[in-house]
Amino acid sequence: MIDSHCHLADDAFQPDLTEVLARAKEAGVTEALCILSAGDEAEAVRARGVAGRWAAVRFATGVHPHSAGAFADRAEASVDVTRAHAAAFEACAIGEIGLDYHYDFAPRDVQRAVFAAQLSLARERQLPVIIHTREATDDTFAILKEAGGIQGVFHCFTGDISMARRALDIGFYLSYAGIVTFPKASDLRETVRIVPADRLLIETDSPYLAPVPHRGKRNEPGYVGRVLESLAQVRGEAAGDLEAQVTRNFVRLFGPTRVEATA
Ligand SMILES: [Zn+2]
Ligand SMILES: [Zn+2]
Repeated sequence: MIDSHCHLADDAFQPDLTEVLARAKEAGVTEALCILSAGDEAEAVRARGVAGRWAAVRFATGVHPHSAGAFADRAEASVDVTRAHAAAFEACAIGEIGLDYHYDFAPRDVQRAVFAAQLSLARERQLPVIIHTREATDDTFAILKEAGGIQGVFHCFTGDISMARRALDIGFYLSYAGIVTFPKASDLRETVRIVPADRLLIETDSPYLAPVPHRGKRNEPGYVGRVLESLAQVRGEAAGDLEAQVTRNFVRLFGPTRVEATA
């Protein structure tokens, strides 16, 4: 099982990282994609610690919309920061990047400029992107269309059926997180049914968004199986079959796993 999106280099995992990784392996998690915030030097140091403890971890990096404000009137500088970080961590994707109009931590025009700039880097490096979008659906699709030729995933998908279709229509993957296990998320579970099997991914987004029955506590990669079980149940598929499928999807989008690449 692969956790396609987690923040293992987050401060929240510092006290017991070794135990967190041990529990993940014990739960059958064979690989994780660790999302980094480009230019965050303290996190980069912790990321080295993660890589040193688990060979099967890979990295993605980008300027999150929450951090876009640092690049007001200089979106191009965000590209330089991400390019250097991506090289340092041999990133297999650019992300998470996108737009967040729910929190609006950065002015929206700055978010849009930085998002477009990050997409241009993904194109240049021919890397897939990991999209974070909240209450910004139309602008997100408009900017993706403008960029053209981009492959990627909508991470922690929480949209409706029409948004799911729009994402699928442009060839993107949908990744579900623990929210899909919440009792009230029946509308979200409806979207799970329409996603072709070869476009699904699973993630924890840990340390955030712990699935039931861990809801409200710190999340960790070892819980990704709860998301898988929930998707399998909604789709009426065997969890084992779906696990194999989402693993193939992960490899198709992000390239061969480290374990395979070094085998
Ligand atoms: Zn996100
Ligand atoms: Zn995230």
